[in-house]
Amino acid sequence: MRLLLVEDDSLLGEGLFTGLRHENYSVDWVKNGETALSAIRETAYDCMILDIGLPKISGLDVLKQIRSQGIVLPVLILTAQDELSDRVVGLDAGADDYLAKPFELDELCARLRALIRRSRGQPEQRITYKNIILDPAAHIVTRDDEIVSISRREFALLEELLASCGRVLSRAQLEDKLYNWGDEIESNAIEVHIHHLRKRFGSNLIKTIRGVGYTIPKQ
Ligand code: CA
Repeated sequence: MRLLLVEDDSLLGEGLFTGLRHENYSVDWVKNGETALSAIRETAYDCMILDIGLPKISGLDVLKQIRSQGIVLPVLILTAQDELSDRVVGLDAGADDYLAKPFELDELCARLRALIRRSRGQPEQRITYKNIILDPAAHIVTRDDEIVSISRREFALLEELLASCGRVLSRAQLEDKLYNWGDEIESNAIEVHIHHLRKRFGSNLIKTIRGVGYTIPKQ
């Protein structure tokens, strides 16, 4: 899952960037509204974490601009403590949720999971597919009730494919979800991850659609 973090405070931004990556999110961190707007044009993010107090273009203006363009990206705003007006204005401008600073990373992650799940129309936190259960909150995947140990990226890849069950995702789309700006991506990285997943979960789980991408077919 790919997040856009918009925060001009270096200390908080660094902490969130590191913490969220540790929680298996791919994260791009930008420090102003202008860069945020161009990043959104280029990358299909799953959620944006948006500080309201930004230099030049404020978080609120970023939010208003993307909503006026009909962009449906889930947005969680970060507001200064006790700034009730910021929260109200932010929600009215199209934010999906907010957190007042200071907050715990755990709470942010829980809210992100809920937001992303809702945006995908996924009713439950855990994703169940045949004999496989994937729990994004616990970072656990089981097959026939036995925990399967897979790498961070393999987990992210499996989650993307399961969440998009029935749809074909191209290699470029999957790379977008699994890597941040600046990550070195081997040209066959996705193929290698798919190969490992097939070894763990059977060769029939993930189908290759030649020239298009990969899919987990509907049950
Ligand atoms: Ca700020």
